[in-house]
Amino acid sequence: MGGFSNSNKVAADENTNPPTVLTIAGFDPSGGAGIIADIRTLVRFGCRPTAAITSLTFQNSQGVFGAIHETAESLRAQVLPILKEFKVAGVKIGMLPTADLVREIVRLVRDEYLPSPVIDPVIQSSSGHRLMEDEAFEILARDLMPLARLITPNIPEAEKLAGVNIINEEDMRQAAARIRELGARSVLIKGGHLDQESGVRSQESRIEAIDVLDDAGVVTTLRGEWIDGPPVRGTGCMLSSAIAAGLAKRMSLVDSISAAKEFVAAEILNAKLKTEN
Ligand code: PLP
Repeated sequence: MGGFSNSNKVAADENTNPPTVLTIAGFDPSGGAGIIADIRTLVRFGCRPTAAITSLTFQNSQGVFGAIHETAESLRAQVLPILKEFKVAGVKIGMLPTADLVREIVRLVRDEYLPSPVIDPVIQSSSGHRLMEDEAFEILARDLMPLARLITPNIPEAEKLAGVNIINEEDMRQAAARIRELGARSVLIKGGHLDQESGVRSQESRIEAIDVLDDAGVVTTLRGEWIDGPPVRGTGCMLSSAIAAGLAKRMSLVDSISAAKEFVAAEILNAKLKTEN
């Protein structure tokens, strides 16, 4: 596949507006999560979506019934023609089931000068189906995480990365610091799972959705009202894609995350309103 060099691009202006964002993720044919959720999000944020599939999964809202994973070679074969034609301004990385795929992405980011990606480390589906091998997770943590602009683990993923238990906001901050020590530039720990399991309460005793951002040591707690709606699939996919879109549009990291959180909150609220009608 050596024929696709990154130097042979179509005229830059045609490619930069709207900015092109590449999602490298799993394909959920039912559209709730993965690449379809990513593309919907990227379009809503005014970006041109491009996509490379890491795994063809078989699922619907009831669960994941199986998957056929792509090889490193087929992933590379998907990505290189995109890089030849477009100036990719942002990258989002989702489901990475195998160690070979993680290694290939490390090569692509390093050798093809991809923008530092936003990584959503997807270990398992909400229904409990395993979407990543242990070895893939280890290589992601060791080799890919240090290349990322941001990694967006939920509580169980952050616990696995940091090797600690998380039961409150202070634990989230400590886990974020630990994940940065392991090589991440910035980490956003999503507290959604914490609210469901143990409840993080504000001074007014209102249950909040709390996310902790540690950006190169600058720690911010992002608070949002907890929306008590039906489970919405693909929220992690949407959040990371929306952040990649913001970064591609040259918004700051904090502004990209705030806009992404608003978008996901609106999706959850919509789902809640639909079930009430
Ligand atoms: N399937 C694919 C292809 C995904 O990328 C993801 C999450 O990123 C999931 C399933 C999990 O989504 P959910 O948590 O909504 O089950």
